[in-house]
Amino acid sequence: MTVRTRFAPSPTGLLHVGNARAALFCYLFAKGQGGDFILRMDDTDEARSTPEFAEAIKTDLAWLGLDFDETFKQSERFDKYEAAFADLQARGLVYACYETPDELERKRKRQLARGMPPVYDRAALALSADDIAAFEAEGRTPHYRFKLSGEAIVWDDMVRGSQKIETASLSDPVIRRADGTWLYTLPSVVDDIDAKISHVIRGEDHVTNSGAQIEIIEALGGDVPVFAHFSLMLAADGGALSKRLGSLSLGELRDSGIEPMSLNSLIARLGTADPVEPVQDMPTLIAGFDMTRLGRAPARFDAEDVTRLNARILHDMPYQAAAARLAEMNAPEGAAFWDSVKGNLTLFKDVADILHLIKGPVTPVIEADDADYVSAALAALPQGELTVESWSEWTQRLKESTGRKGRALFMPLRQALTGQAHGPEMQHLLPLIGYDKAVARLQGKTEG
Ligand code: GLU
Repeated sequence: MTVRTRFAPSPTGLLHVGNARAALFCYLFAKGQGGDFILRMDDTDEARSTPEFAEAIKTDLAWLGLDFDETFKQSERFDKYEAAFADLQARGLVYACYETPDELERKRKRQLARGMPPVYDRAALALSADDIAAFEAEGRTPHYRFKLSGEAIVWDDMVRGSQKIETASLSDPVIRRADGTWLYTLPSVVDDIDAKISHVIRGEDHVTNSGAQIEIIEALGGDVPVFAHFSLMLAADGGALSKRLGSLSLGELRDSGIEPMSLNSLIARLGTADPVEPVQDMPTLIAGFDMTRLGRAPARFDAEDVTRLNARILHDMPYQAAAARLAEMNAPEGAAFWDSVKGNLTLFKDVADILHLIKGPVTPVIEADDADYVSAALAALPQGELTVESWSEWTQRLKESTGRKGRALFMPLRQALTGQAHGPEMQHLLPLIGYDKAVARLQGKTEG
């Protein structure tokens, strides 16, 4: 069997972190099994779906590194849904209902008042031809429900273990609205069958749907896929993610300068008992992913964890992985620069600040109390080309000649040379600043 998974967003908005987690699980599982990852656009809601959102979803997936093997959209497949619908209807598995939303609501309230579960009573099955004619004469058009078997549906969920849905306790699901549009249930099943989806990996908010969907798959003669329903993600304080972090779209995370692998590393492990670790590349993340490690407790997402992980990803990032972006920023070529600055980065774009310390213009900071010391330092600066040894040679000399040590020895030099009280190790910065600029800055000359 070829493993085939699908990520099925609706292009009615931007992806947020919760969607990214669904996409990532589908991708990691498929790729770990040598299978295919499919992007399906659930755009049956033609009024709210837009090509712009569909494009944004593709951009976000590309940024995350989740390359899909195939993609299609539901709006191209309405004829397939019609055919499946006609087939089910011909076999009495779909029936027309004429209740208005108000009437249904009143029924539900009456049932609840009597202490009964608010399950649809199938009154529509008892309608006579005359009743139907009367509704149609009133101008009512029917919506359609799938007739559940009333039996227990069981499956072995990859995350939740053995599952059982008593369809007798469910309302027959509405699969088509009175205006002829489709609800998600039937199109999704038809697509999963046609696209030979082997594993449906999605959030636990779909567990009940799975009961009905398994019956529809069987009714249509399809193979029932393996299901995996993962727990939903909450904000770190337990609040709903979409509300609390509603602004945290993937686009915004991208624009804030986060490395996609930081987000991937975090969300691949949230909700498992395994530690969150910075993972540099997708093959490593794929190799370390095991869906059965996901637990049933909600996964808690803290945006600050992404930032912390981002720094750790950068601190371990090999030069090769950074080289192209460094070149774009006109950073000095070679691993030496990267290795000397990466430990100071939280975001990759912080490289620009470090380049600024080197290239200038810098306004040297020389405190009045340190003026004599900085003059002495200028006189003691090793002549000619500065190397990574120059800093220790220089400060050793100054230590002996001035008796200064620690912060008093180093800080006035850092502030004169970079205008800042912190930054990468001076041993690395000094040769990058170079002799001429170092002299001018020790003289307190403002560049520009
Ligand atoms: N479009 C559906 C959703 O976003 C897909 C659910 C599924 O994976 O089956 O909820």
